[in-house]
Amino acid sequence: MEKHLKLFTPGPGDVDEDVLAAMSLPVLRHYGPGWMEIYNETLSLLRDIFKTNNEIFLVLGPGSALMDMSIGSLLSPGDKIIVGQNGFFGDRLRDIAEGYGLVVIPFTSSLGEPLDPDEFRKLIVQNPDASAITLVHHETGTTVMNPLKEIAEIARKAGIAIIVDAVSSMGGVDLPVDEWGIDICVTTPNKCLEAIPGVGIISISPRAWEMVDKHTDNGHGWYLNLKTWRYFAREWGSWHPSPVTMPTNNILAMLTSLRNIKQVGLEAHYAKYAHASQAVRAGLGNLGFEMFVHQECASPIVTGVKARKEFTVAEIQNWLASERGMAVGGGLGTLSGKIFRVGHLGKAATREYLIDFLFSVEEFLRYKGLKVAEGSSLIGI
Ligand SMILES: *Cc1c(COP(=O)(O)O)cnc(C)c1O
Repeated sequence: MEKHLKLFTPGPGDVDEDVLAAMSLPVLRHYGPGWMEIYNETLSLLRDIFKTNNEIFLVLGPGSALMDMSIGSLLSPGDKIIVGQNGFFGDRLRDIAEGYGLVVIPFTSSLGEPLDPDEFRKLIVQNPDASAITLVHHETGTTVMNPLKEIAEIARKAGIAIIVDAVSSMGGVDLPVDEWGIDICVTTPNKCLEAIPGVGIISISPRAWEMVDKHTDNGHGWYLNLKTWRYFAREWGSWHPSPVTMPTNNILAMLTSLRNIKQVGLEAHYAKYAHASQAVRAGLGNLGFEMFVHQECASPIVTGVKARKEFTVAEIQNWLASERGMAVGGGLGTLSGKIFRVGHLGKAATREYLIDFLFSVEEFLRYKGLKVAEGSSLIGI
């Protein structure tokens, strides 16, 4: 088996021991009164983080499956959708929309820049028949935060639905779903909720349900169809709320983490990310690295760092893995080799991990023959 590396990746992250321990509890049934207690507590804690009264489902599968489910359930082939595309995950939303035969209106910005709300306003004027916008809140591919609040407000005024990939932002930054009027919001447990991959989380607004009900073409099938999940939640909801066997241990692990987040408080949970990202930016900056995106749109969840001329991204990644047992993320797609990405998820935001990471980068630079004063990366700790 591969030796475990300390994770400084953009997801998943290293999680607490009590979260891991929940994975080894005896297997529970995914129905009946015992399960309903666990399920309802999980949904209630998720509602607090989403800040929503909307219906929430837990759907066995990755975050991308739930984006697929949302776009496919709300829109029919030939419908027009505006798709925010400023990185790897935005491009995936385009691919999903095209897969359903939708007419895609690209809403782009250059890599490393956020989407521009004014541009969105123009697109709405040019495409009055567009029925939805989909976009990524935190574009993990570039580490840019998109201005979701502003974009959601424009969408709401224009009366078009907004479908959000919040896989890497929910729990890491404030995202009040009801206040901002987000119709569909998708996340997973293995990013800022600091649990284990395997299940997706989706919230659906009353307006999104209206679109689902208007949607007569059910050509995209049964499993990733919101109607299927609604049927079970409403008709069987008192004892068997999901249409399929649920990953019960996985949900127990998420519940453990959600209880921990509640205990420290959501604001303190956000502050942990903000501090970790500042410590990494200050520390790496002091070592001569340049960040990939401006501070104003930089995410507190993952930090993108530019490659340097003295070594390749692969070289620092390989050295950190083999000599210090830690993993950082590379660049995706066209950013491959141009940046590396440091995640602040889970244990990566702890003092112990931060010091270990920053000091190891110092050591790598000394190994490469660069003059770096010992401890100079730790200024932001
Ligand atoms: C990690 C990530 C995904 C991918 O989630 P899967 O669970 O692998 O499908 C999607 N979008 C964003 C923004 C992500 O960070």
